[in-house]
Amino acid sequence: IRSINKAKKLKNLNILIKDTFDLALNQAEKSHERFLKNTPASKLDGKTFSIKDNISTKSITTTCGSKMLDNYVPPYNATVSEKLLNSGSVLIGKTNMDEFGMGSASSSYYGTVKNPYNVLKDSLDQNLDDFYISGGSSGGSAASVASGMVEFSIGSDTGGSVRNPASICGCIGYKPTYGLISRHGLIPLNNYFDTIGIMTRTTDTLVDVLNELAGPDPKDATTLKTNFKKISLEDKISLNQITIGVPKEFFPNGLSQSNLEAWKHSVGIFDKIGNAKIISVSLPNVTYSMSCYSVLTSCEVASNFSKFDGLRFGHHSELNLDINKVDQMDYNLEQVIKKNRDESLGQVVRSRIATGNYFLLKNNYEKYFVKSHQIKQMIVNDFIKVFNQCDLLITPTCFNDTLLYSDYMKQNEVFDEKDFFTSCANIAGVPAISVPSIMSKNNLPVGVQLIAKWKRDDLLLNIANWFV
Ligand code: GLN
Repeated sequence: IRSINKAKKLKNLNILIKDTFDLALNQAEKSHERFLKNTPASKLDGKTFSIKDNISTKSITTTCGSKMLDNYVPPYNATVSEKLLNSGSVLIGKTNMDEFGMGSASSSYYGTVKNPYNVLKDSLDQNLDDFYISGGSSGGSAASVASGMVEFSIGSDTGGSVRNPASICGCIGYKPTYGLISRHGLIPLNNYFDTIGIMTRTTDTLVDVLNELAGPDPKDATTLKTNFKKISLEDKISLNQITIGVPKEFFPNGLSQSNLEAWKHSVGIFDKIGNAKIISVSLPNVTYSMSCYSVLTSCEVASNFSKFDGLRFGHHSELNLDINKVDQMDYNLEQVIKKNRDESLGQVVRSRIATGNYFLLKNNYEKYFVKSHQIKQMIVNDFIKVFNQCDLLITPTCFNDTLLYSDYMKQNEVFDEKDFFTSCANIAGVPAISVPSIMSKNNLPVGVQLIAKWKRDDLLLNIANWFV
């Protein structure tokens, strides 16, 4: 009830696209009964959570923040939704996001998520024209956790979409090793890079959620085949034997003062308090990660989005009332699809479909698509090599200071070049986490990113736990 009240009070932050209060009350009651009988369903029983609106929930709309899927109600649960509902957790709602996960401000057909830090600091009733953004694309999830509405949230991270808003909203955002958590039921952005991510306020809750979700899934053939060994957080770990790498390519021109400060401050903590060994390392090919990310993501989008034609499902234009009579009408099927798409897909999505199709043209395929795959492999190799020298990397999470909405709107970028601290971890498939570090001079949170070797999520989370 506290969560529901909070969600109602924070309605003007645009955090939820759809609330599930009735379901939540029902689940909470059942959870209460289990507690009375001393038979909780799991460690997560009774904990409140939210799910990003690109993750399928049976009988609950899953819009991806797009008019295209405004009325789409999945007939099945994503594996993560199913597992969490079975764990006794209480779903409060589906969270707002950038359309189909493309963007970094959680600005969608359903409004823009406002950063709870800024708004809570002032007055909730204040109808601010301008506000700080919450980052994205899982900004609704981050804001739901940071504002105290829920204990954890499930997002998706393709290029940084869980870590970026976590840094901006002051919570923890974790992207696991590729294949550790099933993506069955996640509406894809880029199949090579998509991961389900977890956002929380504490590392304990994070590990409890991961232990519930991780492991092979017959419905997702890309999940790791080996059984997942549950992670436990060590109370007292010593960092004496740990080497932390500071990548020298991660000092790009224009890196904001607050992100630089958060980075230095955090390195200092590992050095002075943890007595970890700090070394400078190099990942020469990460400088290409945004080009690689943009080409491969556009190509995947071009391919994945052919199903959104508004015929079988998705937005139908008012015009095509009877699909069986399309042949007799004075416009053809292609025009009908065009109209459906024009009316319901935003500018960024349409630009990516167009650029993806361009990269995939017969004459461009080798030059862009194949080349980007080669670069992907070079980046993977860089990460393999660097983890022979150190156990963990530390980098900024974000590039910019948190933007005001009005400034974000002026940017008009199809891809956020500034995602490069985070996107390289998706390209390499390695686990990464953003943890809160400092408050900026505007009194907004700034996180820092830790990256570990492929399948060393246990080490990553234990060190993150030490840090927070
Ligand atoms: N900003 C990135 C993009 O627009 C983030 C995507 C993501 O991780 N979902 O593609």
